[in-house]
Amino acid sequence: MEKILDVNDLHVTFTTYGGTVKAVRGVSFDLHKGETLAIVGESGCGKSVTSNAIMQLIPDPPGKISNGTITFKGKELTTIPEKEMRSIRGVDISMIFQDPMTALNPTLTIGTQLTEGLMEHRKMSSAEAKEKALEMMELVGIPNPQERLKQYPHQFSGGMRQRIVIAIALICEPELLIADEPTTALDVTIQAQILELFEQVQEKTGVSIILITHDLGVVAKIADRIVVMYAGKIIEEGTRKEVFYEGQHPYTRGLLKSVPRLDIKGEKLIPIDGTPPDLFSPPQGCPFTARCPMAMEVCDKVYPLQTELSETHKVDCWLQDERAKQLLAQAADKN
Ligand code: SF4
Ligand code: MG
Repeated sequence: MEKILDVNDLHVTFTTYGGTVKAVRGVSFDLHKGETLAIVGESGCGKSVTSNAIMQLIPDPPGKISNGTITFKGKELTTIPEKEMRSIRGVDISMIFQDPMTALNPTLTIGTQLTEGLMEHRKMSSAEAKEKALEMMELVGIPNPQERLKQYPHQFSGGMRQRIVIAIALICEPELLIADEPTTALDVTIQAQILELFEQVQEKTGVSIILITHDLGVVAKIADRIVVMYAGKIIEEGTRKEVFYEGQHPYTRGLLKSVPRLDIKGEKLIPIDGTPPDLFSPPQGCPFTARCPMAMEVCDKVYPLQTELSETHKVDCWLQDERAKQLLAQAADKN
């Protein structure tokens, strides 16, 4: 499969009066055509900063991509002139956010908002653009598209507004769609419908999707691969099955226990105690040490090397490291 995005050793910092926040600390991942990658973690883990970096939307200053590369279809985005990036943003790479209301302009009709990108970037006539807008509204499941094109955002329900946001994001036929907490503001039934819509749209258009969420439950159904972020790093990654059913990092396991599971009835939800470390001066060892029920002596001293559990499943945890296992076995022998 064609690789469309390659993020390599990305570091993002923010300079504040209190010092420099190391928000993203060496993140690498890639994405193939037609694939859905989920980036999961608590707020402040660096997942939204990572997606903003891909869009080249890190405000500089105070933000800065201090290291790393972001390659989209062979183009290096970290060094691209802003003018060229503007022709990629919203056209080849689209992004949708949590709140569908702020993403729409309340003073313009849905029709205008759907067609303006097509006329500007795809040089369509207004008739051609309208035709395409109707097609898109049908694709995202908005009934009576002819009439509804003339309406304003406030005339739609929250779920319908999010469908319109998705239609606008997809109308120029982007190759990459980044969705940051796209269902968080919606109720559970609508959430499920929107996730299903992502799947249908992907099947029809072949768009690659990066889905950013704090809720591992959201991604269980639609992600092909899952990346788990903690304190600005990827601490575990794998296929949906590897992370969701065979997740090994104690943080991933904690996330799984704090998510309602449809397949395990009556299971108690357990929140993860404690808070993530301060990213002004991140710990040199494993950043999860202070919250980890399995923490060992080595953990807060040395950052765990990445262990490859399979070709696709990788985890940064000393528990998976053969050398740590040997040390533990030796310690057990002595007792
Ligand atoms: Fe816990 Fe140590 Fe693994 Fe970090 S490296 S997750 S502290 S066991
Ligand atoms: Mg890479």
